[in-house]
Amino acid sequence: MKYYTPSSLSELNDLFLQTNNSKITILSGGTDILPRWEEGITLPKHLIDLKKINSISGIVEHDNKIIIGALTTVQDIYKSELIKTKYTALHQAASQFAGVQIRHRATIGGNICNASPAGDLLPGLYVHNAMIELTGPNGTRKLPINKCITGVGKTTLNNNEIVSAVILEKTEELSVFYKLGLRQSMAISVVNFAIAYRQTSPNLFDLQSIAAGAVAPTVVYLKEFTKAVNEGLPLEKAISLIEHDISPIDDIRASADYRKTVLKNLLTHKLKELYV
Ligand SMILES: Cc1cc2nc3c(=O)[nH]c(=O)nc-3n(C[C@H](O)[C@H](O)[C@H](O)COP(=O)(O)OP(=O)(O)OC[C@H]3O[C@@H](n4cnc5c(N)ncnc54)[C@H](O)[C@@H]3O)c2cc1C
Repeated sequence: MKYYTPSSLSELNDLFLQTNNSKITILSGGTDILPRWEEGITLPKHLIDLKKINSISGIVEHDNKIIIGALTTVQDIYKSELIKTKYTALHQAASQFAGVQIRHRATIGGNICNASPAGDLLPGLYVHNAMIELTGPNGTRKLPINKCITGVGKTTLNNNEIVSAVILEKTEELSVFYKLGLRQSMAISVVNFAIAYRQTSPNLFDLQSIAAGAVAPTVVYLKEFTKAVNEGLPLEKAISLIEHDISPIDDIRASADYRKTVLKNLLTHKLKELYV
């Protein structure tokens, strides 16, 4: 295996061209990749570590946008006052993400590219309509997050592209995140979800969107349910509509039925809390 540490995007693009895009693996924090290697998965021919590319790290405000570099760690997201006040669901997801050591290494780019349906940063990115910036030798393009992630471990990135940034519009929408794991900390989500809403008066709000994780091959928007609640259907009646958008499976962490029931119960509970 050859190991490379480019220090700029142009060096990275040169590497993509030199290696002829063959069997390249990208490394960011390594918190997904390294455990897989320890389980015996074949090492790649070329490993490109992004860690020295400073231009894709950190959180900046630009015009009416917030740009989060792909190498920004979960800990940096957790610590950001801007994220905490404007994109609360992301802050809350970061606060419940693994333990502090993993949070210092795991990156937002890695969480997106790993494309796990249970990725904790993803529901917050979905409800805030994140655009994902992809960069490679052919230039830069942007995709909505739900067009970037297409299945379990699947993305629409080309071989010679990386996620370079996440772009969020400035917004007056508020958001919350909720995660259920098998234990209090260091646990992958059995179910997680984020809710974006607008407060229209002290006790009234409009739901903007709800995105749920670990209940389908990708994070999904609960569109039918959200629409019905906004049209005034009582929560208890509307809740069964989540079944239009989810397709949970049985796995080692929980059964499909458990996931469905727990999502219904937690969502109803969380929305009632918001109404108070
Ligand atoms: C003990 C432990 C606890 C964990 N707890 C949680 C948790 O609570 N919630 C959660 O969501 N996840 C959790 N994870 C999973 C993991 O930490 C996250 O998915 C993390 O965000 C991955 O980021 P990374 O930078 O470490 O990715 P890496 O391991 O470096 O990469 C992950 C994948 O993405 C690709 N990749 C990485 N960056 C880029 C990029 N910029 N462009 C293109 N491809 C890229 C890599 O090639 C690889 O396929 C946990 C992992 C461990 C080991």
